[in-house]
Formats: sequence, C-alpha cells, structure tokens
Amino acid sequence: CGIVGYIGKRDVAPLLLEGLQRLEYRGYDSAGIALHTGGKTGGLKTAKAKGRVRELESRLPKRFAGTVGIAHTRWATHGAPNDLNAHPHQDATGKVAIVHNGIIDNATALRAKLVADNVEFISDTDSEVLAHLIGRSTAETLEERVREALRLIEGTYGIAVLHADFPDRIVAARNGSPVVLGIGEKEMFVSSDVAALVSHTRQVVTLDDGEMATVKADDYRTYTTEGSRTSASPTTVEWEA
Ligand code: GLU
Repeated sequence: CGIVGYIGKRDVAPLLLEGLQRLEYRGYDSAGIALHTGGKTGGLKTAKAKGRVRELESRLPKRFAGTVGIAHTRWATHGAPNDLNAHPHQDATGKVAIVHNGIIDNATALRAKLVADNVEFISDTDSEVLAHLIGRSTAETLEERVREALRLIEGTYGIAVLHADFPDRIVAARNGSPVVLGIGEKEMFVSSDVAALVSHTRQVVTLDDGEMATVKADDYRTYTTEGSRTSASPTTVEWEA
C-alpha cells in the first residue's frame, strides 16, 4: 500500500514513521521498518506490527538507529493482516529487506520452487518470494540481483530494497504501482506517494513502469529493468501544506 525510504545523514526511524503517518489516509492494516545499523559490522534491523503506525512506534527496539531505511504500510492481498505478514520481508540470510506494493501473480509457483529448494518462508505473503529471489542471486551488483529477481516475477510492483552488503544505496523499481524519488540536499527519499515527501523536498522524480532506480544520499540513477540508462530529471511538485 504505502512505501517510504530515506538515505542521508539524519536519524532514519523518526523520519520513516513520519512518512508512514502521512500515508495513513490511504488505509492499511500493518506497518514496518527496516534500517541499516551502520558501522563496519553493519547489518539490517527490522520492526513490524499489525495495526497502526503508533503501534509500530511503541514496539521499536531500544537501539534502532541508522541513516538508511525503508518502511511500509500494508494493505493485505495475500496472507492475513498480522505481525509476520507485515513488510519489510527478508531473505534467509537476513541481508536483504524489501517492501512491496502490488501483487505477484506467480508467487505460488515461485514459492513452491523455492520451498523445493529448502527455502524457509516466514510469511504467507506473495511479496516474500522477492526477498528470497534477490537474496539468492549471485550477480555482482545489487541492481543486477534485483533485475534477475524481477525477471522471474509476473504481476505488479512498487518496491524498495535494502541489502546489508550495499549500505550506500536503496534500489527501487516500478511496474504498475507508483514510485517517486524525492531529491534533497545530501539526502534522498523514495515513496509510493509524494504526500510522504513534500515536507522535505519538492524536487521529485517519478519512475515509469519498467523503470528502476539506484538512490544514494547525494546521487541517483534511473534505468529500465533491462538495465539501460534512462534520463529522469526532477520536476517541482506544487503542494498546499
Ligand atoms: N501483496 C502484498 C501483501 O499482501 C502487498 C500488499 C500491499 O500493496 O500493501 O503483502
């Protein structure tokens, strides 16, 4: 339903919670956050909860700090609304975290293949297959891993992806479910809805269907899901506060 991501210098959890609150008007049944804990040993941490964003906030672990993260409000399509089905979803190593809007039509078949290959699923969602597919790719770059996973997927998606080994970026992609980038000063936002960004920046890049983006704190690049560069330049959104 709703996606918010941030990469920059500021403490990410409060920013993401604020962004999620701005998406509450769309309706949702659960919410969650994943962030990079930073430092050399690094790694991802997640928190999620059925219910309101307030509920998620009250359940954040004591130490839940970082400057790169993604968050989601879920409107369940596959799997009941509960803590485990809330996004972000992770792969078996815990190195990948994804948030997904939309519906993966061939999730059942993909899941059966993965299960036959001894992959353990945590949730009942269609989205979780994406986390495992990205986690199992052996391609060199995160972008190529995401691309490989997306090639196997049929359906609609707006996604944002974190990877423990690539702490300098968020990878996003769109096919039938909106994704916008918010361009700030040495900080960037990713969202499914400009409403989550406009309190921070009015400079926005809207991804097209079939387009992906690498978002870093001070730079972004867009390309097709086949890998050729596209030139998406920012436009200024008008917004009545
Ligand atoms: N199909 C996914 C799920 O059920 C995403 C739903 C959404 O767009 O919030 O978890």
